[in-house]
Amino acid sequence: MGQSLSGSTPPCGREHMGTLYLVATPIGNLEDITLRALRILREVPLIAAEDTRHTRKLLTHFNISTSTISYHEHSPQAQRDIILSALATGDVALVSDAGTPAVSDPGQDLVRAAIAAGYPVIPIPGPTAAIAALIASGLPTDNFTFLGFLPRKSTDRRTLLEQVRMSPYTLILYEAPHRLLSCLDDLLAMLGDREIAIARELTKLHEDWLRGSLAAIRARFASGELTPRGEFTLVISGALVTPTTAPDESHSVEDLARDRLGDLLSHGLATREAAARVARELGLTRREAYALALHLSEEKAEHDEE
Ligand code: SAM
Repeated sequence: MGQSLSGSTPPCGREHMGTLYLVATPIGNLEDITLRALRILREVPLIAAEDTRHTRKLLTHFNISTSTISYHEHSPQAQRDIILSALATGDVALVSDAGTPAVSDPGQDLVRAAIAAGYPVIPIPGPTAAIAALIASGLPTDNFTFLGFLPRKSTDRRTLLEQVRMSPYTLILYEAPHRLLSCLDDLLAMLGDREIAIARELTKLHEDWLRGSLAAIRARFASGELTPRGEFTLVISGALVTPTTAPDESHSVEDLARDRLGDLLSHGLATREAAARVARELGLTRREAYALALHLSEEKAEHDEE
C-alpha cells in the first residue's frame, strides 16, 4: 500500500513486505478522524488495537469490518512477534483507545521492533490531546516540553519537576482526575506560581478550559469549588516567562531586554526565538529585539573565544 521512496524493490529483499501504519483516532469527537485514517483502517488486513472492544465500536461506527488483534502495554513479547509475523505478509495498522498511538499509549516497542526488522513504519497523523491543548492554551507554542504522565508518587513527581524547573519551554502534561489536585500542589511547590491552562474533555460535548494563575486555579480545586472529572491536559508556562521587573529610572527597557535575552539564550533558546519572546514581553519590535539578541550572541562568542 505504501510507496517506497527508494523504488519498487522492497528493502531487505523481502517479496511481501507489510507496512506498520500508526493511525491516530479521535480523542472524543468522532468527526476528527481523517479520511486517510479511515481508508487505511478499511484497507489493511489487520488492526492491532489497545482494546479491541473499544476499537470495534469505532470501526462499526464507520462501517469497517477489518480484523483486530490486541496489543497493549501488558502484551507479552509473543504478541508482538505475532504482529511482526503478520507484517511479513501484509500491512498492519496500530491504534490506541484514543489519539495518537505511542504518545503516552502503547506502540513504541512495536515501532522499534518493526524498524529493527526492516519494515516501513508510517504515521497517519491526527488528534493528540497534548497538541490540541497547547495550541489553544494561549501560552508560547514556539518551544515546548511534553512530559506525558508525571510519576504517581509525589516525591518522584517533585524530582522530575525539579529537572524542568528552570526550563523556559512551555510544559505539557497529562493527569488523571483523581491525581489532579495533588499534581497541582506539586506543580505549585516546585515551579512557583505560573500561568496555566487546563483543558478538560477536549473535542467532547462538555469541553472546557481553565486559564489563569496556577495558585488561583489550584485553590478552586482545593476548596471544592471545582471537581476534577473527565480527562485533563495541563499546559504550564516555562520559567521566567513574565519579566519580574518593570522599566524604571535605573532599568531602561533595553537593560531589561538584555537581561532577559541573556537568560533565555543561556537556557539554550535560539536567537530568533529568544528575540521573538522578548519582543512580545517588553513591547519591542522583533527587529529591535533581534538586533539586541544578535549583539549579545556575538559578545558571548567573543567572550568564549578569549
Ligand atoms: N495517545 C493519547 C493522545 O494522543 O492524546 C493520549 C493517551 S493517554 C493514555 C490519556 C490521557 O490523555 C488522559 O488521561 C488525559 O490526560 C489526556 N487526554 C486524552 N483525551 C483527552 C481529552 N479529550 N481532553 C483532555 N485530555 C485528554
